[in-house]
Amino acid sequence: MKLPSRVDEKLPEGVSRYYASLAESLDPEKDPIAAQFMRTDAEDHVLPHECSDPLEEARYMPVPRLIHRYPNRVLLLACERCATYCRHCFRRHFTGQSDGQIRSQDLARAAAYVGAHSEIDEVLISGGDPLMLDDARLVDILDSMNAAVGIRPLVFRIATRMPVVMPARITQALAKRMREHGQGRVWIVTQVNHPREMTSAFAAAMTCLVDQGIPVLNQTVLLRGINDDLDVLTELFSGLLRVRVKPYYLFQGDLAAGTSHFRTTIDAGLDLMDGLRDRLSGMAMPTYAVDLPDGGGKIALTRATVRGVEDGYYILLDRNGRQHRYPYEDRLADAVMG
Ligand code: SF4
Repeated sequence: MKLPSRVDEKLPEGVSRYYASLAESLDPEKDPIAAQFMRTDAEDHVLPHECSDPLEEARYMPVPRLIHRYPNRVLLLACERCATYCRHCFRRHFTGQSDGQIRSQDLARAAAYVGAHSEIDEVLISGGDPLMLDDARLVDILDSMNAAVGIRPLVFRIATRMPVVMPARITQALAKRMREHGQGRVWIVTQVNHPREMTSAFAAAMTCLVDQGIPVLNQTVLLRGINDDLDVLTELFSGLLRVRVKPYYLFQGDLAAGTSHFRTTIDAGLDLMDGLRDRLSGMAMPTYAVDLPDGGGKIALTRATVRGVEDGYYILLDRNGRQHRYPYEDRLADAVMG
């Protein structure tokens, strides 16, 4: 089921004082930080193939706030709010739409579902930004999930942009509680999109987590005019390794409503990956990937899985050899101009 894009469903505007201070200019055309938090009129251009829920998450929700798309893992929508609203956010049908957090009865239902499905061994805690919750509520989520599965070990992934937009949120106390209540199996997945986001405060937050035994992965979103540049991505991925963060994914933009101005072509992404391979060690290389627009899950984008362009769409092959479509740039431009 595709959720329609609603005009009243706009991603709110909001930025932390810290993240705003990283911008050298408040012109989103000129500054890669400002471009990520300042709304522009380009968001009003909603293309025919864009929608509120591009990954069709609503289709995979067996109980409120729990997405079960892949057999062994689930995603919990723990909190709607963020410290900064990224203009490229793909979960804009949910993010910032209320100021709430998961209610106790929804957490209990989600935990019971995880407990009853023995094939689940990984819980991704996301939102919004789950680190908008206070430490006690986060601990509550970890404890509830662990209690529901008994001796079955769960791995937790906490998806957060807090180290980038509000690194002071990452404290020794928080890291210690996540390690203890996650029973030593908590990973952090963050989203650094530009080298200017790797400040000394960000590095200190990484030290805090990694020294507590919490590994950190990074998912960069490939953003036109912000980081679709070989030098920028080289500096970004090599810099992440220096603070012990593994570059995990480089994501092709999802087809979220009003975000076409951020998307590059897949050809541009493949060329960047070729260039990066000549410059970086394997450890610094992320996987270039896309979440399929038809709810088909994530696939790696390589010269083998991208099978050319037909009728204005890339033809992409998934692991099972099935074909999927993703719009080619000309199609985006035509629709905007039309
Ligand atoms: S922090 Fe994540 S959920 Fe929040 S606006 Fe940014 S991308 Fe979206």
